[in-house]
Amino acid sequence: GRRTAPLRARAEIDLAALRANVRTLRERAPGAAFMAVVKADAYGHGAIPCARAAVAAGAEWLGTATPEEALALRAEADLPDDLRIMCWLWTPGGPWREAVEARLDVSVGALWALEEVTEAARQAGRPARVHLKADTGLGRGGCQPGDWAELVGEALRAEREGLIRITGVWSHLACADEPGHPATAAQLTRFREMTERAEEQGARFEVRHIANSAATLTLPESHFDLVRTGIALYGVSPSPELGSPADLGLRPVMRLSASLALVKDVPGGHGVGYGHHYTTPGATTLGLVPLGYADGVPRHASHTGPVLVDGKWRTVAGRIAMDQFTVDLGGDRPAAGAEAVLFGPGDHGEPTAEDWAQAAGTIGYEIVTRVGTRVPRVYV
Ligand code: PLP
Repeated sequence: GRRTAPLRARAEIDLAALRANVRTLRERAPGAAFMAVVKADAYGHGAIPCARAAVAAGAEWLGTATPEEALALRAEADLPDDLRIMCWLWTPGGPWREAVEARLDVSVGALWALEEVTEAARQAGRPARVHLKADTGLGRGGCQPGDWAELVGEALRAEREGLIRITGVWSHLACADEPGHPATAAQLTRFREMTERAEEQGARFEVRHIANSAATLTLPESHFDLVRTGIALYGVSPSPELGSPADLGLRPVMRLSASLALVKDVPGGHGVGYGHHYTTPGATTLGLVPLGYADGVPRHASHTGPVLVDGKWRTVAGRIAMDQFTVDLGGDRPAAGAEAVLFGPGDHGEPTAEDWAQAAGTIGYEIVTRVGTRVPRVYV
């Protein structure tokens, strides 16, 4: 059974579902190695337990944004020594020497970053494993095609000096969650071109990678040697256009619930919450859910967010506050302490993260990732 009391609220994390998702996704990309993206505390699910579960289910690589996230995994997650951990958000003056010492794979998309990584490798006394990042069209990190030959040339020089090992060539897709978007084909073409040009200069790559979750699920020609999946690992759909998690064969991992702090009768015409943006239409009961925007419940879902209480969907009544919000229970009188489920797998009638994303005008990624540190994660 679920261990709920006496917690105010909890995010239950179903690691068996996460492991099943790893296996499902690996089957979708049979020729490629698998990177479990566990940045941002594993999209809110807890980096260390999720990393361990993903590796147990067959992930050969872990991916993070920052070097600090990757260093914490290397130091604390008790993973195989040779497990590959890549971080990609290069910022000036970061802990690059520690990154090289911890045998992290790093991403370099500019000459100044290449200079920093070679200096870090000198200090660490070992070569840095470097993935050259191509901007194939996302317009975020990475090297523009016009600057590519120079970056590759300098990287080859640093490799000959024994300071780096050119390990990967990689990029990131802008529109993979919109099937058929022409930008995706253009990015794949440019990725192949930039890879070939680097190979003509003499670079040899262990791994070429560009696919995120959406591309892993829908675009086999994007898989190359490695797929980097984040959101699908957690059983959340990359976008409504791709269908529900069930349509994609995925099992949602997080279930967010709280214990009602209070249930009380109020007369009709009673204002509810800051600004009185809700007024009870008649005599009713109100339930107080002890979660708010400090816990990641989006304030934009005031009046729209769905909550399952006693088998019925209720809607946020009035504004979501920092620590709490109210639902109109329409005369039902569950006891204080009764469970209010914000989202979960959806197979017991509860709303899903996708429902909250729609209610708040955002994406499922943001719903799970922003669940605050004040909410205990309970691994089930
Ligand atoms: N690769 C990079 C560089 C990323 O920044 C991310 C996350 O945004 C991913 C892969 C995983 O993306 P997704 O969660 O859509 O699978």
